[in-house]
Amino acid sequence: MTRTLIRNGRVVTVDPALGDFDDCDILIVGDRIAEVRPNIVADVDEVIDARDKIVIPGLINAHLHTWQTGLRSIGSGWTGPDYHRIMHGNLGTRFLPDDNYIGTLLGALEQLSGGVTTIFDWCHDITSIDYAHRSIDALEETGIRAVFGHGSAKPNAAEGQLPFTHIPHPRERLEELRKGRLSSDDGLVTLAAAILGPQFSIPEVVEHDFRMARDLGLLSSSHAARRPSDWVSPEGFRIPAKLGLLDASHNVVHGNYIDDAELQLIVESGASVTVTANIEIHVHPMDPVSGRLLELGAMPSLGIDSVPLANSDFFNEMRLAMLYQRAVDQRTAYRAGGPPLANLPVPPRQVLEWATIGGARALGMEDRLGSLTPGKKADIVLIDGLALNMFPVHEPTFSTVQQANAANVDTVLVDGVVRKRGGKLVYDDGLLARRRTEMLHSVSRIIAESGYRRDAT
Ligand SMILES: [Zn+2]
Repeated sequence: MTRTLIRNGRVVTVDPALGDFDDCDILIVGDRIAEVRPNIVADVDEVIDARDKIVIPGLINAHLHTWQTGLRSIGSGWTGPDYHRIMHGNLGTRFLPDDNYIGTLLGALEQLSGGVTTIFDWCHDITSIDYAHRSIDALEETGIRAVFGHGSAKPNAAEGQLPFTHIPHPRERLEELRKGRLSSDDGLVTLAAAILGPQFSIPEVVEHDFRMARDLGLLSSSHAARRPSDWVSPEGFRIPAKLGLLDASHNVVHGNYIDDAELQLIVESGASVTVTANIEIHVHPMDPVSGRLLELGAMPSLGIDSVPLANSDFFNEMRLAMLYQRAVDQRTAYRAGGPPLANLPVPPRQVLEWATIGGARALGMEDRLGSLTPGKKADIVLIDGLALNMFPVHEPTFSTVQQANAANVDTVLVDGVVRKRGGKLVYDDGLLARRRTEMLHSVSRIIAESGYRRDAT
């Protein structure tokens, strides 16, 4: 097994029992962290010099529609309904399996380069198994750790066809993947069911999809960001809860419009909730649920969601999640006539936990991801503390959350394998140039076919 030593880093383990170290080494044996302590002496294959670097656990982006990467920022002026009409009703219907491949490939490489070692790839334009296979091809090619969420497309119904809200998840595709290339729960790419959930489907479909995920032993996830008047099943998550089908194997994305009682039901069931602050601030009038989750004793996870609308830098997502909750708490206290808060809500360490432990918990992988704890997978990120926007680093968690961006990521390891080194992705330059050209061809065709005018909104 390959042995690697990360030497002399400022290590933020995000493991409360271990804490932080100003000058610390990490020994990696194979795909696991073997030791975290100062002055490790060991025979190793490679030494990574981490002087002047902050060392953190790999970040976990718990919600990303990676297939959409090539439409980056095209929807900066879109409203929520614009997104559904233009993306799912038009652009998304024109993707072919190879378009999924190229979007997923460059999107996953970008996340890796920006310090994200695990993504929940929520792939919901799938109309045949080929789309899933090409997306998985891309994930496997990058070396990122990914939960591949198999989702179904949401096109506008044609004359005489059922709307997507009435169509159960295509179980046969999930079964094919589960019996085939994603049969293992220990692989770098694992399978999940990206289902419609109660806000987007009728109760019969809600039951079918939750039951299917349970039968197949899969993590499931559903979107919940519609105004209650638009919910297809007004009973919401009470439906799977009453059936005994809501538990820690389900992940709710957003949750902004869910009332306190339903949110409590979700949290008490053990289901996780993922906040995507950038998107939610962009298109929703209701606050991200981070504060309400904290009151219920739950830890949020964070996601980027949709790159056509949101900035895809996960450090930016951490900052937005922190600042938005600080804004809400302080304004709420002030409007209630209270004194200034004694402590600023959401310290940087807390939001770093959401981006690591919170994500690991949402994916059911806290036993192997989320902190630099011996025995866990060696998913590790080194941040350049000498960069002009980082230097000097007084408190590593403050600098990581308040100052860092994707370009400051110096080194990335996933499963003990170096995927970025010295600020450069370990990916052939010539191949990357060709992939960029392929992406331009892909999205140019999609946009041309759609008739969408990029300056329209
Ligand atoms: Zn989403």
